[in-house]
Amino acid sequence: MTPKEVIAFCREKGVKSVDLRFMDFPGVWQHFTIPVTALTEDVFEDGLGFDGSSIRGWQRINESDMLVLPQPDTAALDPFAEIPTLMMICNIQDPVTREDYSRDPRNVARKAVNYLKSLGIADTCYVGPEVEFFIFDDIRYDQTSHCGYYFVDSVEGEWNRGRDEKPNLGYKLRHKEGYFPVPPADQMFNIRNEMMQLMIECGVPVEAQHHEVATAGQSEIDLRFDELVTMADRVMVYKYIVKNVARRHNKVAVFMPKPIFGDNGSGMHTHLSLWKKGQPLFAGSGYAGLSDIALYAIGGLLKHAPALCAFTNPTTNSYKRLVPGYEAPVNLAYSQRNRSAAIRIPMYSANPKAKRIEFRCPDPSCNPYLAFAAMLMAMIDGIQNKIHPGDPLDKDIYDLPPEELQNIPKTPGSLEEALNALRNDHEFLLRGDVFTPDVIDTWIWYKMTNEVDAIRLRPHPYEFCLYADI
Ligand code: GLN
Ligand code: MG
Ligand code: MG
Ligand code: MG
Repeated sequence: MTPKEVIAFCREKGVKSVDLRFMDFPGVWQHFTIPVTALTEDVFEDGLGFDGSSIRGWQRINESDMLVLPQPDTAALDPFAEIPTLMMICNIQDPVTREDYSRDPRNVARKAVNYLKSLGIADTCYVGPEVEFFIFDDIRYDQTSHCGYYFVDSVEGEWNRGRDEKPNLGYKLRHKEGYFPVPPADQMFNIRNEMMQLMIECGVPVEAQHHEVATAGQSEIDLRFDELVTMADRVMVYKYIVKNVARRHNKVAVFMPKPIFGDNGSGMHTHLSLWKKGQPLFAGSGYAGLSDIALYAIGGLLKHAPALCAFTNPTTNSYKRLVPGYEAPVNLAYSQRNRSAAIRIPMYSANPKAKRIEFRCPDPSCNPYLAFAAMLMAMIDGIQNKIHPGDPLDKDIYDLPPEELQNIPKTPGSLEEALNALRNDHEFLLRGDVFTPDVIDTWIWYKMTNEVDAIRLRPHPYEFCLYADI
């Protein structure tokens, strides 16, 4: 829609208020709302002012006055507002220079795509994320352990304690068998249907929805692939709908990557392909039907994977998912068959247009704008410098003998390791002014102080189990 069309759409739908949304630095949507009468065509040009100083990760700017610029092509009716409300995603600008703000994650993603185009390698990067999440009955604060939260779900009862009282033993999913028997075993079927329907109504095309492997309501709704910035926008609409539908049912949707010890975590496998003038560039005659460009893109992703993880797996909890035995990648390798490799080449279709690579490291705690931008920059580096990924690994990596495993590089073991990798390897992200040195430094500082140190300094609930009687 153009600005004119958005205003006409508001009139036609009886819209009363307009909700303006943008992404903070760590990855949570922020918003403020204006009456529809304040939405003029000028607003799309001149923006609206707000105080940016309290937004996480943006505090240290000298000028805290900022502008939001609503993007008319993101307009959709908010399905949860009680009066008719239009939501729009915004870019952020400095009101004095009128430059796009360098710490606005959406700006970073836009710059990454523009950089790709400027090089002439490709004009489009298609992205298809498989976002997984859990639906719990509740998250409660556990006073007995002094510092812990725990989850409650209707299938298993309370996690981390009270695990003996498991209600409703009928039609119960067996451990690791949530993927995917029909209801009544699948208790989240109707909730996921409702989520899927609202996504479609909000202009977010969905390919499928299903229960995932973990029994405690683990779910997945797959979005149809699209262009990188659009897809990052859609991941935010996705999370908004998932959380609000869960809330409507008195439940809570959780995107943290590993909420439950001993069961599968939630990933955000990301399918990637590059296109030029409507032609797919990843199909060819090499391994698994890949082109040289695709192999080099894999080379770039694998080479920079430890640093990439600082953006694609950006929480301390992310590294509790990246362990053997739960379909999450541990070893940095690629394969056409192997779901234990960090990069898989899906072989469902022989159509060149379906040829893509699946990067399996990312998880849904990431900021999708920064994560997608970083993945694209790693692929660009691989292509420009012809980084060959070496031989594929077509064995089950979890079962390899230790001698063979030794030579395969690993995903980082902690957020701190990933941040250190990023500190030592970020030149590829700075090209084309996509990630500025300030964005890299602020990210590392923010994550170290607010998350790595915050966790390191607190007694862990399990420490009471290990040491209370020492
Ligand atoms: N949940 C798994 C992960 O953490 C993926 C399971 C699957 O989709 N095959 O990556
Ligand atoms: Mg899937
Ligand atoms: Mg899945
Ligand atoms: Mg997958």
